[in-house]
Amino acid sequence: MTTSAVRCRVAPSPSGFLHIGTAKTALYNWLFARSNGGTFILRLEDTDAERTEEQYVQAMCEGFKWLGIEWDEGPEFGDEPEKGAFGPYRQSQRLQLYSEEAARLVAEGKAYRCYCTKEELDAQREQAALEKRPPRYSGKCRNLTPEEIAAKGDTPYAIRFRVPEGETVIDDIIQGPVRIQNKEYDDFIIVKSNGDAIFHLAVVVDDGLMKITHVIRGDDHLTNAGRHVMLFNALGYPLPKFAHHPLIHDEQGRKYSKRLHGANVLDWRKDGYLPETMINYISLLGWTSEEEGREFYTLDELKQLFTLKRLTKSPARFDRKKLDWLNGQHIRMLSPDALCDRVLPILREQGFPVDERSRDWLVEMAAICQEKIPTLNHIIPYTDFFFAAPTAYDEKGDRKFFRQDTSLQALEAALECMRQADEWTVTALKESYEAAAEQKELKIGALVNGTRLALTGKTVGPGLYELVKLLGREESVQRMEAALNYIKTSGEGTA
Ligand code: GLU
Repeated sequence: MTTSAVRCRVAPSPSGFLHIGTAKTALYNWLFARSNGGTFILRLEDTDAERTEEQYVQAMCEGFKWLGIEWDEGPEFGDEPEKGAFGPYRQSQRLQLYSEEAARLVAEGKAYRCYCTKEELDAQREQAALEKRPPRYSGKCRNLTPEEIAAKGDTPYAIRFRVPEGETVIDDIIQGPVRIQNKEYDDFIIVKSNGDAIFHLAVVVDDGLMKITHVIRGDDHLTNAGRHVMLFNALGYPLPKFAHHPLIHDEQGRKYSKRLHGANVLDWRKDGYLPETMINYISLLGWTSEEEGREFYTLDELKQLFTLKRLTKSPARFDRKKLDWLNGQHIRMLSPDALCDRVLPILREQGFPVDERSRDWLVEMAAICQEKIPTLNHIIPYTDFFFAAPTAYDEKGDRKFFRQDTSLQALEAALECMRQADEWTVTALKESYEAAAEQKELKIGALVNGTRLALTGKTVGPGLYELVKLLGREESVQRMEAALNYIKTSGEGTA
């Protein structure tokens, strides 16, 4: 529900997947809107027809949906219709508005028609390069008289913004006031001679007409902001507040390249990370809370605590270790039921016959892995043995737990515990293992590790008694017998 006038937006160009940097911009805007009872808008900058494809739009929106970043106003997506009273939300459908606003600027003398040809402009640029000075527009068409313009007939023209004299200040929440001398700019084109609006005009017209109050975006746009402020003023729109936040750097401290794995937000979904983790992690890439050193945040907490005041100026380096740690924390935070829902599709895709099991059994299976798995995908190595008996034993484990003097004795004792347990519960199994170890003067580890290897073929996995309980008596006994048989009939490593 919106309860304040705050209106902010993310305005990505759908020319590929949802980049993690764009996700950061979206997240900051969204959290800011949510923490202020404001409105969050998704607007697509899709005027570059060559680079925009509908599949990219869908892929990007899917990224937002996965993260749970819901827009209050925005274009249609899948079955959802466009929503909001300030549409359309695709720039490709707003071209008329840009032309009208450009014409208004011309009528008001704040912009003018420029008839210079490409050849003329290229020649000027080359000359400037030769003389080693920055290219500047000559100003040739700045003061054409109405007669001169009339004489041009229907010669094609671009529209240039008449940069006013004086100083422009970008009052940036993160960067502080950034002052620019207007004379550093030459009159820039806002509409090309083919009628296409330039990015600067489109973005300002959109922000103005959509009544955007806060422009929160990557600091790669800081160099554009001076032009934008001038255009806001010329068009008579109230000036939004700006917050240009730093870009994300990779672990080597370079700009997070599109080509890197993980640049696409959905790579993290594929790798078994929770959207909650990504929201938490990305929020920390440029924001700190009042509570120094705290890193774990739930979504609800972030929606309460997020403030623009605490955005940082320096770029944040991607830290995979921290991300992994957070993912573990968020996995532990889920209810076993919720964790079960998240891992089922992964298990199904792996071909495990999960639908033959009861829901209770599946929830228990998720629950016994919850404390251990670092990513959702780890559910596969942590549970595959439930669906098929091991066909081989971990080599190191074989040496350590099957080939010691006491190995056979320990396994036989464990098997006996299984056969004789009155109750098939975690507590009963634990007590009986401990009693057997004590009575036979064996280390409990020999029983536990031997059993794990016999039942799962591995040396790591869910808690031992929990997995034995869930595997069931009959299956466990069979696997123990098979392991004993294997030890007796084979030398080390000859399964
Ligand atoms: N389309 C621009 C981008 O994807 C955003 C422009 C803006 O936020 O003003 O970086």
